Amino acid sequence: MLRFAPSPTGDMHIGNLRVALFNYIVSKQRNEDLIVRIEDTDKERNIEGKDQEILDILALFGIEYTQVIYQSQNVRFHTAMALQLLHEIKAFNCFCSTEWLDKKRAEAKENKEAYRYDDACADLPAELVIDNMNPFTVRIRKPHDAIIVKDHIKGEISFDPNEIDSFIILRQDKTPTYNFACAVDDMLSDVTLIIRGEDHMSNTPKQDLIRTSLGYDKKIEYAHLPIILNDHGKKMSKRDDASSVKWLLEEGYLPSAISNYLILIGNKPPCEIFEMKDAIEWFNLDNISKSPARFDIDKLKFINREHLKNLDPKELSRYVGFADTEIGKLAKVYLEEAGTTKELKSKIAPIFADKIIPSEFEEQAKIMAETIKNAPYFEEYEDFKNHIMKESGLKGKNFFKPLRLLLTGAEHGPDVAEIYKYLKNYIGEIVK
Ligand code: GLU
Repeated sequence: MLRFAPSPTGDMHIGNLRVALFNYIVSKQRNEDLIVRIEDTDKERNIEGKDQEILDILALFGIEYTQVIYQSQNVRFHTAMALQLLHEIKAFNCFCSTEWLDKKRAEAKENKEAYRYDDACADLPAELVIDNMNPFTVRIRKPHDAIIVKDHIKGEISFDPNEIDSFIILRQDKTPTYNFACAVDDMLSDVTLIIRGEDHMSNTPKQDLIRTSLGYDKKIEYAHLPIILNDHGKKMSKRDDASSVKWLLEEGYLPSAISNYLILIGNKPPCEIFEMKDAIEWFNLDNISKSPARFDIDKLKFINREHLKNLDPKELSRYVGFADTEIGKLAKVYLEEAGTTKELKSKIAPIFADKIIPSEFEEQAKIMAETIKNAPYFEEYEDFKNHIMKESGLKGKNFFKPLRLLLTGAEHGPDVAEIYKYLKNYIGEIVK
């Protein structure tokens, strides 16, 4: 079982999408199920509707899963497991006040030491625990031995037991902490491999300790994906527009191209342009680079253009807001100067819009428009051109400039002879 575990706390980040893609590909390769677990236990940070938005994005990218689980629905299991740990003395009640712990933390900081809980409540006599009316948290006992994590990308990592203290698994209000909920849920779902961002690396030994303490002896495999850097070599954050999947889609990048790019970076693919089904054939987690990948929008645009070229004309036509094949073919010609569907739309829309003619050609354009409107249908551009030239009496620049402006709405662009093939059936709509 694999899982994708997004938090519904913001727009889907490309790093999350990359995690989802890898999970999907590996689940297909291993013939195992993939579940989506919405990690919604942090009520304050949840944003209404983000869960659905995430599921919609997964659908758009063709990422299939067998089930959606909401973490908040598992709270009764989290509580039961914490009670089990208390019963087995693998966890204990901690009565240290928040103020006290904050003070200890500040002291550690002053001494330039990493803060570790000092186990003050780890071995309180039973009578002090049972009758104690003070608020308390539940902490799991720290490990005795090193925790070894085998990671497909990072290799084998050993966490010293002193790096991990007896950490909180249930808060004062008895809600589970993030690590506890996550570790229990992965166990309950029988997850075999966790693919996630490397920002979770420090959680891994804690989650491993939770499961071992619960007597779960299956070892989960890991793959922690390196972060994605922006142009300045910093982690791609909300401030970088391109970090948002929604933004990239709005900018006119195709899901297939975004997937292609996110699978390509930091990887060793046999070719540069591919579809997800190809990636399922050759993808290997062990090939993913340990070092961060750098996001390069120009490269993404190059890949997007290749995917746009591969679309069938009818589909491309739909992407630029039309329904028929000819416009799709026309859009393909414009791919020489456009790399996204948004850019393509900005080239195609002026063809059908009212034309703005610079004053120096206004007169000629008027004559030409009249001539075109009165002209019969011509199959071939040469015949069309000769007819308009003859009837309008215009020549050279005074002919070609207004013609391009009237037919395309732009001063520059692809060869008019080339695009006439796709425009000839629409001349009446184009020159109004
Ligand atoms: N909910 C976490 C996140 O969105 C992922 C946790 C995990 O994969 O273990 O970053």
